[in-house]
Amino acid sequence: MYCQVIVDIVHENVAHTFTYAVPDGMTLEKGQRVSVPFGAREKEGIVVDLDSSTELDPARIKTVIRKLEEYPAILPHMAELAREMAEQAHCPLAETLRLMIPAQMRGGRITVKTVSTVTLSVSSEMAEKAAEEEKRSRKRKEILKILSDGRSRTVKELSETVRDPREALNKLESEGLIRITEEEELRTPGGAFIGLNETGHILTSEQKEVLDEIIPCLNGKGGKFLLHGVTGSGKTEVFMTAVRQTLELGKTAIILVPEIALTPQMVSWFRARFGSVAAVIHSRLSAGERFDEWRRIRRGDARVVIGARSAIFSPVDHLGLVVVDEEHESTYFSDHHPRYDAREIALSRCNRENATLILASATPSILSFARARRGDYMLLEMPKRVHGRPLPDVSIVDMRRELTGGNRSVFSRELQKALRKCIQSGEQAMLLMNRRGYYSFVSCRSCGHVMKCRNCDISLTYHMIGENGKLRCHYCGAETDMPVKCPECGSKYIKFFGSGTQQVEEEVKKLFPGVTTARMDIDTTGGKDGHGRILEEFRSGRAKVLIGTQMIAKGLDFPSVTLVGVIAADQTLNLPDYRSRERTFQLLTQVAGRAGRGSRPGRVIIQTYKPEDQVIRFAASQDYRAFFEDEFARRRTALYPPFTVMARLLAESPDEVSAINTAKELDTKTRSLLKEHPEWARKVLLLSNDVPPVQFLRGKHRRHLLMKLLVSKETEAFCGALAELAGQTQKNTEVWFEYNPTTMM
Ligand code: ADP
Ligand code: ZN
Ligand code: ZN
Repeated sequence: MYCQVIVDIVHENVAHTFTYAVPDGMTLEKGQRVSVPFGAREKEGIVVDLDSSTELDPARIKTVIRKLEEYPAILPHMAELAREMAEQAHCPLAETLRLMIPAQMRGGRITVKTVSTVTLSVSSEMAEKAAEEEKRSRKRKEILKILSDGRSRTVKELSETVRDPREALNKLESEGLIRITEEEELRTPGGAFIGLNETGHILTSEQKEVLDEIIPCLNGKGGKFLLHGVTGSGKTEVFMTAVRQTLELGKTAIILVPEIALTPQMVSWFRARFGSVAAVIHSRLSAGERFDEWRRIRRGDARVVIGARSAIFSPVDHLGLVVVDEEHESTYFSDHHPRYDAREIALSRCNRENATLILASATPSILSFARARRGDYMLLEMPKRVHGRPLPDVSIVDMRRELTGGNRSVFSRELQKALRKCIQSGEQAMLLMNRRGYYSFVSCRSCGHVMKCRNCDISLTYHMIGENGKLRCHYCGAETDMPVKCPECGSKYIKFFGSGTQQVEEEVKKLFPGVTTARMDIDTTGGKDGHGRILEEFRSGRAKVLIGTQMIAKGLDFPSVTLVGVIAADQTLNLPDYRSRERTFQLLTQVAGRAGRGSRPGRVIIQTYKPEDQVIRFAASQDYRAFFEDEFARRRTALYPPFTVMARLLAESPDEVSAINTAKELDTKTRSLLKEHPEWARKVLLLSNDVPPVQFLRGKHRRHLLMKLLVSKETEAFCGALAELAGQTQKNTEVWFEYNPTTMM
């Protein structure tokens, strides 16, 4: 017997499989991890195929050393998925297979904790009788008495009443009275689970209608849905009912959320309702906990997995349902190598495993909505909030008018008034400021010099750290002191401009002394459970006003929030990215949706310097359809995705000349590729050797070869060739191939 093994080394030359002989007496399955001789060393690998014969010279074939587990770590459909991903991402299979195995399992780092459990091998009566017999020691008698109720005990439990029981236990085992077994102990993160209970709401008629479409698909038929439900329409209840149904059919489910720390409510609902059959995968699990959760899932003990994007690789068998909540979020896209989009992986898994897919959002991505319109997904809509609660009332404030009216505060008069009213009535408010720090930049009034990072071509943000002001780079983290005079012209009129979350918080405290505030941004959410602490502060009602970056816009459900203020709506609109309009619409609609989720109606105030902008208007009227039509038409005319593919080869080097030369070289190579393949050239709408929006980042000079391509099979092949170009290492310069990148910095 022979097996084909993917050796766990990522190197261009070992992208293929190796043949090994299976020793006599060893049974292997596809997907099992094995240890094999590789060169002079021993390496881990995964069996991808088994053959009864080989064409190679048997004398030269090495033999598998041992298997690493008794069970296949990679399920057959996961192996297929890995293969498909490797083909699409143009990377070695070993790399995509790694996504499917917890890091702890690789490189012999496994630490399986075991517990010894003691059980009677005889009846309770016999044990009681044996406990009376003179010939046994006091310890042995005591152990028998304890166990005579028929319940198993761990050795640790026993040693609480019987000191050093080991020897006595061994004797009892040899007498045939008890059995000692070693079992794997699993660390259960997040404390004890609450038992299985069903505290569901009575479904609204909208929820019922939607579920009537979904439920018949769960039994292996497989359906693909885009659930477009306004904020507060009760989408979570739809997921839970569908998950419950899936479990009843003996199948499993995966729920993806954009970021687990920001969805504590969803997690606790799932834990409360699904108890220990739920596994929660989040970035703050220790490697050991992550590995244990993985095994619980692999063994089928955990049948509902909830987690961020990487949870889509969970080794669940009999997959029945995948839910992608807030499907428009960019966190589903992984920028690390190998790059993947969890939504596309979800789709691929559902297709392969006949499972049902639900993509859900109040503001679906342009791509998903376009697909739904084309008929790839069935569109399900929930246009109303639960129990006839109204959508919040949104008003737009023109900040240019505030300025001419003499108001220089970050708050318009209208927002100040509304905040006062909200606080006085004992309600809560959320303020969105999508920039952290105190002031957004520092510049010289005499010569106009802007303080920039020494590593990046990016302006520095002013932060208050204790009593002191510091300038910080939001890209590389570099920090410097606030200068006393302009480093360019020596003028002392060096001033702060723009605002950030810190300043907004200060202003709230100044305007409303004694009111407790909470601030949520990257600066305050560090450490274990930073998010949880802040959210709890707000949920409990201690903090009346929550100030934060886009983090506060995501999925939170606080019933006593009646006011949402957007301090500067234009912030995201001006980013150099074809998606900035889509992002702005999503952010404004989502944050507006945090208001009025309880019994009292909500109010939203959007401050902007561009009140006439269509995107701001569509967001204010919370009209997704109108936004979609407008944006879809714009993308069609301007030839942006989903009508085209944006791709680039990005060269980064500490040395500017190397970056420039590499980009030139890439340009030449790409053009000659296109000469060789006229069928690819026909799909190229734009090819330019260019300077990216950020020329210098984290100490590296950057140049890129930017391309706009028509969506086609040929384009896919061309992108494959481009990825290979990027893979050829250049001295002193790194080259990245990006395909519809999330940001085009
Ligand atoms: P969405 O995710 O669509 O924004 P949620 O699922 O968070 O909305 O639901 C909004 C609120 O409505 C939550 O507080 C939820 O508990 C409540 N809710 C959902 N469905 C029902 C129902 N059928 N009956 C009563 N309350 C419901
Ligand atoms: Zn100056
Ligand atoms: Zn920097």
